[in-house]
Amino acid sequence: MPELARPQSKLLIVGAGIGGLSAAIALGRAHQNVTIIEQSAQLGEVGAGVQLGPNVNHVLKHWGVDKALEALAFEPEAVEVHHALSGKQLARLPLAESFRRRYGAPYLTAHRADLHAALLAAVRAGGCADIRLNQRLQSIQLESFKALQEEGIKASGTLTVSTESTIDSKTTANTQTSETQVLDQQSCEHYSALVGADGVWSKVRDLIFSGQQSALKAQVNTKAGINSVVFSGDLAYRSLVLQKMLPAHLRLKTVKVWLGPDMHLVQYPVRGGEWLNSVLFLSPRLNGMANKSLSMDVLSALDWTINMSQEDKAANIQSILPSTCSKVQDTVRAIEAWSVWPLMKSNPLTHSSQMVRGSIALLGDAAHPMLPYLAQGAGMAIEDAFELGELFNNANYNSSKQHGLVESIETTLQRYATNRWKRCASVQSRALQNAHIFHASGALAWARDRSLELLGDKILDMPWLYGYQRTQSC
Ligand SMILES: Cc1cc2nc3c(=O)[nH]c(=O)nc-3n(C[C@H](O)[C@H](O)[C@H](O)COP(=O)(O)OP(=O)(O)OC[C@H]3O[C@@H](n4cnc5c(N)ncnc54)[C@H](O)[C@@H]3O)c2cc1C
Repeated sequence: MPELARPQSKLLIVGAGIGGLSAAIALGRAHQNVTIIEQSAQLGEVGAGVQLGPNVNHVLKHWGVDKALEALAFEPEAVEVHHALSGKQLARLPLAESFRRRYGAPYLTAHRADLHAALLAAVRAGGCADIRLNQRLQSIQLESFKALQEEGIKASGTLTVSTESTIDSKTTANTQTSETQVLDQQSCEHYSALVGADGVWSKVRDLIFSGQQSALKAQVNTKAGINSVVFSGDLAYRSLVLQKMLPAHLRLKTVKVWLGPDMHLVQYPVRGGEWLNSVLFLSPRLNGMANKSLSMDVLSALDWTINMSQEDKAANIQSILPSTCSKVQDTVRAIEAWSVWPLMKSNPLTHSSQMVRGSIALLGDAAHPMLPYLAQGAGMAIEDAFELGELFNNANYNSSKQHGLVESIETTLQRYATNRWKRCASVQSRALQNAHIFHASGALAWARDRSLELLGDKILDMPWLYGYQRTQSC
């Protein structure tokens, strides 16, 4: 039988983060004509770590990214959970061989820049996409966009996308600021569909969900509405240090988690074990945010890192020292430079329509922002991308088999959202739940610790999460 020609669409991905590059690989492999726009002047990632479960590594292997990544990543021996105050080990889950046997793929810890670079190399090697830097999405026009918004109907036709050229002033001479300037250049292009992989502050989400975001003020403890994002009140203090610069008793080969009231500390090696990534999470009672509210505008302008004075940072971090065990104290004292990230959260998705409107789909943090308390935000972005690519790859096959027609792009995107939203919602929910459990005190902390002591590895292992293998059906 002659092979059916696949429909090739002109697709735009907004954002070249982990999600955007993953989408480019997946859609490029599905023979789509892909352009990525990225507002930054340079491609890259911040200096911090990322944990990647077997569910994610199956996808990376399928794309051939595993070899490059494994050469740069680290495979921890185990996850070990301790009480941050007493120092007592509460639970241990063996990873390495044990995880490879159970799930058929490793559990890895990596530097985000290494993961990003491995994905970028795959995009380039496969000729998957045309990447355009210094281009920021401004607006999207769609023939029936108004009707789409008002009636929730499916729109078809071409998207007209306006972008503005930007220049990162960090790269210009004589400037110290990190702001991005907008140049006086705009351009308009037409695409069949658009994937918003533009992160937690997503402009695409803002545009297709009629500006809910801009009206919203982020406040500590504000209940998040559907698909809206709020500041959780928690701050993450992140650092990367060379293990050899640390005293021997603080060097690690495992993922260590220290749980205490209103705080937890997560540490793991990256870069073949040479570097140690540490993230100290403090809730509002300890991070000075208890009586403060920050507007979304202020938070989004910060673009992840908060410029907190060294004194305030030190004061917040020092506040945990009197009550914590000596290992936590020694670790915190040994690390000089911390960068501070505000943590955003959102209610879990409740419907597929929150991930798609007509020929516009959301992916990664743009679709389902989550607290990093399950270490799966980037993982979900990669899984999203894989699903999207597979559906584009099979669109012709599926539809021609059933109807003798090539299915519409809107149908493919709707199918993507339908297939993804429940899993992403489960991960979002579990991350929210973990915020309470990790930072608990009193009776809840007591119950948590006893459960971990009794059933530790069964609680820490999550087959529903790590055992997900969409690649198996491909
Ligand atoms: C402290 C912390 C620890 C974490 N640990 C883990 C972990 O261990 N494991 C894990 O899986 N996840 C982890 N995460 C989550 C993970 O970092 C995110 O889920 C992931 O980076 C999201 O990727 P993304 O591509 O969707 O968004 P982003 O990485 O935010 O990328 C969005 C991109 O879009 C660009 N962009 C934005 N707006 C525009 C526009 N208008 N036009 C053009 N370009 C635009 C941005 O410049 C950026 O490059 C952690 C997060 C935090 C905060």
